[in-house]
Amino acid sequence: MAKKEYNPFETARAQFDNVAEILNLDNGTRELLRNPMREYHFNIPVHMDNGEVKVFRGFRVCHNDARGPGKGGIRFHPQETIDTVRALSMWMTWKCAVVDIPLGGSKGGVICDPHQLSAREQEQICRGWVRQLSKDIGPLRDVPAPDVMTNAQHMLWMLDEYETIHGGKYPGVITGKPVGLGGSLGRTEATGYGVIYTVREALKELNIRVEDTTASFQGFGNVSQYAIRLYQQMGGKVIAASYWDQKDQKSYTFKKDTGIDMDELSPILDKFGAIDKNEAEKMGYEILDGSAWIEQPVDILVPAALENQINAENVNKIADSVKIIAEGANGPTSIEADEEIKNRGIFLIPDFLANAGGVTCSYFEQVQSNTNYYWSKDEVLGKLDSIMTAAFIAVSELSRKKKIYMRDAAYMIAVDRVAQACKSRGWI
Ligand code: NAD
Repeated sequence: MAKKEYNPFETARAQFDNVAEILNLDNGTRELLRNPMREYHFNIPVHMDNGEVKVFRGFRVCHNDARGPGKGGIRFHPQETIDTVRALSMWMTWKCAVVDIPLGGSKGGVICDPHQLSAREQEQICRGWVRQLSKDIGPLRDVPAPDVMTNAQHMLWMLDEYETIHGGKYPGVITGKPVGLGGSLGRTEATGYGVIYTVREALKELNIRVEDTTASFQGFGNVSQYAIRLYQQMGGKVIAASYWDQKDQKSYTFKKDTGIDMDELSPILDKFGAIDKNEAEKMGYEILDGSAWIEQPVDILVPAALENQINAENVNKIADSVKIIAEGANGPTSIEADEEIKNRGIFLIPDFLANAGGVTCSYFEQVQSNTNYYWSKDEVLGKLDSIMTAAFIAVSELSRKKKIYMRDAAYMIAVDRVAQACKSRGWI
């Protein structure tokens, strides 16, 4: 029998159905929250550099906006599917709800490969995407952001098109803008720092001093680098991290038992989160296989690269010493591995709580843009810490009170908040 293809929307719905059962939601609420509120599918015709017209397929899905304007990124990807966008928009709803920021969940996409497109062609796609949605996005309606293969430049083209159509300045219509052009200080650090704020709280709960702990990371990109810096500032020691080597087309783990040194590594680090392994060896790092990150005898594991990285094949390689797994990436743990982690009693900080620092800071960007008044970095990071800490405490208290797994507790809080908002508005 052919292997069934992974469909993220089926997974997102299965997760929701599980919580709906625990919360005993009525049928109307289940029907509403299993499906997106709104979906847009459209064509974006582009005059290509070679004189031909090519038509790209674009999407925007707003899963739910009962708690506030929709929020979520736009991906440019050749394999983009509407079901991926639907799943991601649903997960955005839960992520905003679990940290209790007044936003709903959305996601967008275009089926295209930016590597094969000139800057002018990409600009035309961005402007075309906004022209199709100019009435359906907005600072108080639905606010896009960068995601896979989109960046601050794409956001600025989109902002410019929106402002041209609406004849005014609306910096709050989109986030992920550069600092100085409506962006927020602290956004680069936000996701990684957010992960560590939750790790710090988990350690407090387990009565372990951060200075007495070690950690191993999968991935060495934006999330990991800032998470490692903050964790080490707090006194923890990171002994290993893995990365993807573009040249060799394989992953490696680099390791130093005395602790990896970010300042020492920064000259041999590229913008894709890969290091020069020959130089690293000269600095005294051991270079191991990419899978080695998960086997390290550490206290904390942080998967912060890709989805489905802790799975049935490798979950039993997690050392007995591991007390906390903080999911920096989205969906890094398969359903089977999750069951095993739960049974072993490892303290799990689920993805949509652990990595919510990114969207929380995007919310801060929205607030600053809408008021046209910008905060200092300390102010941004201070507010981020308060929100992440409060969210963590709410989830862990529920988990303790009901004796349930942290992931189930996080889902219960998020889904219940959204269901309550729908109820209060009289939708259900
Ligand atoms: P990034 O592109 O900056 O870094 C990704 C890192 O993962 C790189 O070091 C890369 O070498 C490594 N990597 C890729 N494949 C690997 C493999 N097979 N084995 C080991 N390492 C591998 O990405 P990022 O922004 O750090 O995001 C990491 C994860 O966190 C993604 O799942 C992303 O969706 C999620 N996330 C990111 C943010 C954010 O604000 N950046 C917010 C929420 C969630």
